This record gives sequence, structure tokens and C-alpha cells, in this order.
Amino acid sequence: MKEHPQNRFDLSGKTAVVTGAGRGLGQAIATGLAEAGANIVLVTNRTSAEETKSRVEALGRKARIVQVDIADRSKLPSIIDAAVEAFGGLDILVNNAGIIRRTPAAEHAYSDWQEVLDVNLNSVFVLCQMAGELMIEQGYGKIINIASMLSFQGGINVPGYTASKHAVAGLTKALANEWASKGIQVNAIAPGYMTTDNTEALRNDPARSRQILERIPAARWGTDEDLIGPAIFLASNASNYMNGHVLCVDGGWMNR
Ligand code: NAP
Repeated sequence: MKEHPQNRFDLSGKTAVVTGAGRGLGQAIATGLAEAGANIVLVTNRTSAEETKSRVEALGRKARIVQVDIADRSKLPSIIDAAVEAFGGLDILVNNAGIIRRTPAAEHAYSDWQEVLDVNLNSVFVLCQMAGELMIEQGYGKIINIASMLSFQGGINVPGYTASKHAVAGLTKALANEWASKGIQVNAIAPGYMTTDNTEALRNDPARSRQILERIPAARWGTDEDLIGPAIFLASNASNYMNGHVLCVDGGWMNR
């Protein structure tokens, strides 16, 4: 029987893990997936995720908070374990947490480079690997990695970030190729310039801020809410034949 079109976006009964769920884009994505029906494991590090938990619960879903530094590989299994323990499995993984270090390449501290790669890339690989194992077994799963415009472009003064986000796009395609036939969709969202802490330095620099705005066809910076629809789409059966796609949510930035 054909599925009713509206139900294609329904996540009722699904379990999602969202990293970086205490603030910024991750908070909006976690809330959005809950809106569509999912219970959520909220992964956070320094920020309390209590507010996100309240939002999820207000929508009638369940939430479990896991507080870990995802740069510490030994802590990553606790995230997947929490999903299994609290909700009996894992259907959706959103690798959202990410950091940026802004200094010119010639002065870029190796410790910054290393930290950015640990958070933005190495944790993504390990979490995908662990989630993938479960998802292969159950023959179903959705993985969404948060990429960037700097998965396509070089950026300025952010060599580690750019390298990490190019790699996230590549990893997304590599995993999609291996797992598409096993019922798992691995895709990425590449946000444009969004008004979160990540871009505060850019928005505080009048020249950069103006240059960026001038290039955005939508004539505004993006907001966390702009990612909700695309995240629900990639987390749901509506995107079952999408594999290894990097979906730009950028107000048209990449077209210019
Ligand atoms: P944000 O407001 O700076 O938030 C960063 C998030 O990452 C926070 O939730 C933070 O958690 C988490 N995080 C950082 N280091 C962590 C660690 N070691 N362990 C666990 N969690 C950690 O950034 P955002 O704008 O929401 O960015 C979310 C994602 O979108 C990132 O991958 C970013 O690269 C990407 N992105 C953002 C933009 C943009 O314009 N904003 C554009 C393209 C891509 P704590 O606060 O708990 O530390």
C-alpha cells in the first residue's frame, strides 16, 4: 500500500542522537526531530541541555542527556549506549557538534588544528561507525552529518575547519556508497551563514558581515529554524533514495 504523503515525514517511534544539542543549530535540529515524532538523545559538552530537553518533552517526546567531550574517543560509545538503553535502539544520527578556530594558516597553532579535526571529523567517523554497525544489523538508519559552505570552498583564516568540513563531505559519500544497499542513508546538510555563536566573529566584523550578506541571494543570514525542515526530510522516509548528498541550506550562497 502506498504511504500517505504526510506520513513520509513522520518520525514517531524513532530514536535520534543529536550532538551539540544544547545550543545553536543542534538545539533546533533536536527540537525539530522531536516535533516530527522522535525521542532524542541530546549530546552536549559545556552547555546544559536542560532547555532543549524541556522543549522536547513539551512536544510529548522523551529526551536523554549525555554529557561528553566528543574529542575524547573513549567516551563516544556512551552516546550510542544511551540510545539503546533509554529507547531500545538508534534510527537517526545527527553529527552536528563542531568548532571553528580562526587564525591565518601561517600562525595556525597545531593544537587548534588537532582539536578541530578531533571534534569535527574524528568523532564523526567513530560515531558513524558505531551507529552504522547497529543500523546494518537492523537494516534501517539515517545519518546526517553537518557539513558547511567550507565543504566546497576554502574560507579565510580557517584551514583546519575547512579541511575538516571537506572531509566530512567526503566521508558522507564514502559511507553512503557502502551502506546504501543496507537500508541506510548517509547524507549531509551544508548550512550557509547562520546566526549562531559559530559566526559571531564574522557578524562582529562590519566589513566581512556586509560582504557576506551581499553575496546571499536570500538577502539575509540563515537562522537555526531554517535547518529544521531539511533535517526532518533527511531523517525521514521522504529521502529514502538519497545517498551521499550534501544538501546546501544557504539562501542561495553557492549559486553566486
Ligand atoms: P555553535 O553555536 O558554536 O555550537 C557548537 C556546538 O558544538 C555546541 O552545541 C557545542 O556544545 C558543540 N561542541 C563543540 N565542541 C564539542 C565537544 N568537544 N564535545 C561535544 N560537543 C561539542 O555552532 P553552530 O553554528 O550551532 O554549529 C553547529 C554545526 O554547524 C557545526 O558543525 C558547525 O561547523 C556547522 N555549521 C555552522 C554554520 C553557521 O553559520 N553557524 C555554518 C556551516 C556549518 P557545548 O556548548 O556543550 O560545548
